Amino acid sequence: MRLKTLQSYADKIYLGDRVQAFIKEYPKAKKVRPKVYISDTCGSDTAGQIWCDVSRRRMEIELSRWILVDRKQTLSTIRHELAHALTAICELGGAKHGKEFTKALKIVSPRTFRRDRHWYDNDSVFKARKKYHPKTRIYGNATSDLTNRL
Ligand SMILES: [Zn+2]
Repeated sequence: MRLKTLQSYADKIYLGDRVQAFIKEYPKAKKVRPKVYISDTCGSDTAGQIWCDVSRRRMEIELSRWILVDRKQTLSTIRHELAHALTAICELGGAKHGKEFTKALKIVSPRTFRRDRHWYDNDSVFKARKKYHPKTRIYGNATSDLTNRL
């Protein structure tokens, strides 16, 4: 998937009615549209991460190149990071993947929020991860955020 497609996908969700209506409930929220970029890897078990500088109105979603081999999971990672963005924009606070995060995730992905909590290893993702992290071992499906972080 091309970066332009990934950015459009993120924009469509971020600028969509559901997310915008949620942000409006927080009068102090600074609107920052997250920018998506791709790097080789965010780490052997990190499919994506977000860099927030709300005061300077900068927010960047970094995607690991190895997750891009799986289209479905790439989109899932974007949704997960958008929920982190929403948590930061609305200053929801709480633990990194705590109940405030879950609240934001349900706004971003009402139908797939359970799946969007983690990424899941499979043959193609594992092969791609192995390129950047030769020592990595297969995880199988993660049940805990500590094993497969997004
Ligand atoms: Zn996360």
